[in-house]
Amino acid sequence: MPPSSDTGQNAANIRLEGVSHRFGQTDVISDVSLDIADGEFVALLGPSGCGKSTLLRILAGLQEQTIGRVLIGERCVDGLPPRTRGVGIVFQNYALFPHMTALANVAYGLEAVGISRAEALVRARDALAGVQMTPFGERKPRALSGGQQQRVALARTLAIGPRILLLDEPLAALDKNLRLDMQLEIRRLQRALRITTVMVTHDQEEAMGMADRIAVLNAGCVEQFDTPEAIYDRPETLFVANFVGAAN
Ligand code: ADP
Ligand code: MG
Repeated sequence: MPPSSDTGQNAANIRLEGVSHRFGQTDVISDVSLDIADGEFVALLGPSGCGKSTLLRILAGLQEQTIGRVLIGERCVDGLPPRTRGVGIVFQNYALFPHMTALANVAYGLEAVGISRAEALVRARDALAGVQMTPFGERKPRALSGGQQQRVALARTLAIGPRILLLDEPLAALDKNLRLDMQLEIRRLQRALRITTVMVTHDQEEAMGMADRIAVLNAGCVEQFDTPEAIYDRPETLFVANFVGAAN
């Protein structure tokens, strides 16, 4: 998958310093500080409404935090839009153009960043190959399964060659078996590309199975940021113990 030849060197670390965000009178994110290493896979885990998507949008530059700083690759990116930050985002609802083939969807994303049509098609084919979708390039989204559509969405994002991959509940719409396949597939790709990845999920098993480290969020605060093993074996708060334990 392009630009596989140079990904890895491009992976960037992420640092959040005292990030807070307020919507109206409500603190949705409260003083979050996180250091994410380059090439690391981090899950933001927590119940619905705890601020996961808001934190991801702040990382992406889709939302400006009220307080604090965001650094990507040691550079403060506050005020910069997503593309300049080098981030690629995949959402739960794949957001593919329904009237375009899988290949055209991926190529369109490349043309949108100024790549010629001919080059875009070559790179789009490579990107589809990278997610095992070569046989389906000429199909439109409605003729693809949910998992296949999500692969195309992933290819479209990765084809651009981001330094950081942000995933917001990418598998939430898929049924259980497909979800397990896609968990393995995303992790395989992430390791192959060595791309720093932050994935939002409310599913503790998904976070446990995929992430190098998990940040457990509760009402906008990070309760614990640790390896899956440590979160499971040594929860530091009652909330973490309950959320990761029998409550799920
Ligand atoms: P999660 O992704 O963990 O479910 P969100 O980050 O989407 O949570 O939302 C966190 C809180 O912020 C929720 O209470 C939500 O209602 C609120 N919120 C999210 N976006 C906005 C917005 N644009 N304006 C006002 N409140 C918002
Ligand atoms: Mg969300």
